[in-house]
Amino acid sequence: MENDAYGISRWGDGLIGVLTNGNVCLHDPLSTDASPVDLAEVIQKLERRGIQTPVLLRVSNFLEHRIRAINEGFRKAIEQVSYQGDYRGVFPIKVNQQAHVVERVSEYGEEFYFGLEVGSKAELLIALSQNIHPQGLIICNGYKDSEFIRLALLSTKLGMRTVIVMESVRELRLIIEVSKKLGIPPTLGVRVKLANVVSGNWAATSGDRSSFGLSIAQVMEVVETLRKEDLLDCLVLQHSHLGSQVPNMVEIRKFAQEASRLFIEIAKLGANLKFLDLGGGLGVDYTGENSSSANSINYSLEEYCYSLVETVCFEMNDAGVSHPCIVTESGRACVAQSSMLIFSVLESTSYERDEIILAEKDDHPLLRSLIEISDSLERESLLESLNEATYYRDELRALFRRGRLSLPVLARAERAHQKTLGQIRKMMDDLDEMEWSDELNLRVQGMADIYHCNFSLFQSLPDVWAIDQLHPIIPITRLHEKPDRNAVLCDVTCDSDGRIDRFVVADGVADCLPLHSLNEDEEYYLGAFFVGAYQETLGDLHNLFGDTNVVTIRLENSGDFEILDEVEGDTVAQVLSYVEYEPKRLLERFKARAEDAVKEHGATLDELKELVSTYRESLQGYTYYESD
Ligand SMILES: *Cc1c(COP(=O)(O)O)cnc(C)c1O
Repeated sequence: MENDAYGISRWGDGLIGVLTNGNVCLHDPLSTDASPVDLAEVIQKLERRGIQTPVLLRVSNFLEHRIRAINEGFRKAIEQVSYQGDYRGVFPIKVNQQAHVVERVSEYGEEFYFGLEVGSKAELLIALSQNIHPQGLIICNGYKDSEFIRLALLSTKLGMRTVIVMESVRELRLIIEVSKKLGIPPTLGVRVKLANVVSGNWAATSGDRSSFGLSIAQVMEVVETLRKEDLLDCLVLQHSHLGSQVPNMVEIRKFAQEASRLFIEIAKLGANLKFLDLGGGLGVDYTGENSSSANSINYSLEEYCYSLVETVCFEMNDAGVSHPCIVTESGRACVAQSSMLIFSVLESTSYERDEIILAEKDDHPLLRSLIEISDSLERESLLESLNEATYYRDELRALFRRGRLSLPVLARAERAHQKTLGQIRKMMDDLDEMEWSDELNLRVQGMADIYHCNFSLFQSLPDVWAIDQLHPIIPITRLHEKPDRNAVLCDVTCDSDGRIDRFVVADGVADCLPLHSLNEDEEYYLGAFFVGAYQETLGDLHNLFGDTNVVTIRLENSGDFEILDEVEGDTVAQVLSYVEYEPKRLLERFKARAEDAVKEHGATLDELKELVSTYRESLQGYTYYESD
């Protein structure tokens, strides 16, 4: 790809590309000869239907493709290794609980006997209502009360393969009690804590100190209790989870080996283990770096499947234990790539560098010196010029504070300073073969333009805020033009944390995003890609920006697309009711106040009517910036 300022060819994974008209396109991974779909056109068509940005766009082909790829990856690995057991994947509902997503996962996974993993009663209720193949598993993790256990046990009566995974010794006593009462023997799993610790953002999920699972001593206690109760036959699954987005293949292999060893030992104690559940952790290469850094992975999906199967196979052969069915709980890897958030840029605050600022006759000498710097910039002395500019600007600010400079003059000083900084930055960018000093690099970092964007980081990209998650973000048009600005992004909340200043770019990660100057009368849309995992329900109502509009599309061979479903984002009234306001009552109270105001301030009845109808309309409106 020419001029790939954003590294799309590295992270796009064959799903995202660029058309000759400079627009981003979506490739259908399920059909190699399908024409790509123009993303900018999709957004235009949605807007014509009244679906405004910010919009979360789900692409069902991407989801189906990932589910196929994971299942086929394991099938192939099983063949290559001559593994004697099967593979059964389950999708952990917590990664994306949205009905349209879970329903599609169940639908696309059915032919592979793909199941679901749940961590709470609410999620179990979702799982029990899905069309899962009778061979598919429902795996119950998390803390379980007797109601949870009752539901799980009863569901097995309907032929569902619901496995209750014990998270603690106490839970076992409860399970035995409920199971006796109902006269239904449980299908049990045991969650074990492994010693291996992994790197990445979720390191705390693994190792001795992780909060989940049983220690070796507790596993022994559980096995002995089951033996006493004559239930050892019910223990069919061993579970462990090493955390999400594990970047390093070596760690995954070590983990699989340790899990296999435990499995062998527990089987030796007489348990009827059939399933080895290796949890989640399969990562997504958000940056395209193919490295073991936090937002990347140093392995492919095929390698992941092969490594797990081979490691388990080797250990089982070594111990003479028959090959178990391998289960994984990949959530992120199933859904991350299948959605993207598209939002518009509302305006930009730029470091002007082309502005003409002339010194005037009676300008303060400091201001004159400041203005003159920009005519004498030399590549060898940029830091020196930067120091001078900052010094003059600070002195002029001090004069203003002491009442010796007027506001219009200070404004010229600020503009001259910004212009100089912008020019320095531009020289550094243009001469990027030069080695700039750390000090200079550090100081120009703060000189990026600010692009103000119509979305809420807290609602739509919470992990970007909470754990510095990186999602590729790119303009969806004008990619045939060289970006001429460097920017950081701000959202529409009035929180200073509502800001993105780390980006995936052509050669890795940078603190500014190359973008285009905004054209008047032309919307400039950005897309944040691979946001399908975890973001949707972790989001909160910061500043009362609610759910965005959500649309699921199906890419068609012709290069066109079909809308499968659309869910309107929250209205202001809905968001207000989440925080216990009653919109009807708000309106009544507002009306009463307004009527009093008519009496007191002499507003006309027409003004009153207009005010009330504007209030009413606002209640029904989108919580984001609406363009007229
Ligand atoms: C969160 C979670 C997963 C999903 O992990 P991913 O890395 O997203 O695949 C799987 N299993 C358990 C027990 C989890 O808590």
